[in-house]
Amino acid sequence: MDDCLFCRIAAKKIPASVVYEDDEMLAFDDIHPQAPVHVLIIPKEHFASLNDLPEGREALLGRMVAKARDLAEAKGIAKSGYRVVLNTAKDSGQNVFHIHFHVLGGRKMACPPG
Ligand code: 5GP
Ligand code: ZN
Repeated sequence: MDDCLFCRIAAKKIPASVVYEDDEMLAFDDIHPQAPVHVLIIPKEHFASLNDLPEGREALLGRMVAKARDLAEAKGIAKSGYRVVLNTAKDSGQNVFHIHFHVLGGRKMACPPG
């Protein structure tokens, strides 16, 4: 999808600070980090949001969550704690309509989130 920012990042048409990549996903630093560690994990395939994930593709998200755990470990925040966020649609604050997990950590966070 040429008009999708994260598709363009996945296709390397827009540069990003990539921290992990395999055949089906890419992880890179958020351009406006909200915590000392703020990584985004995206599938290379375009799904606009969780609402648009077809039945049968749920395991992909499971592998992305497992990657969030592995990256938290690699970034040294597994023990101190981290948050994995999946914003979906308008009220959540989703701005980029290509499904992505935020992995945030390295500081104390409030709960519930605002
Ligand atoms: P959302 O609000 O959709 O859940 O999150 C979108 C995230 O993408 C935001 O945290 C924002 O800072 C990040 N972002 C937006 N544009 C870019 C970009 O061009 N590069 C990177 N690395 N992150 C971006
Ligand atoms: Zn996309």
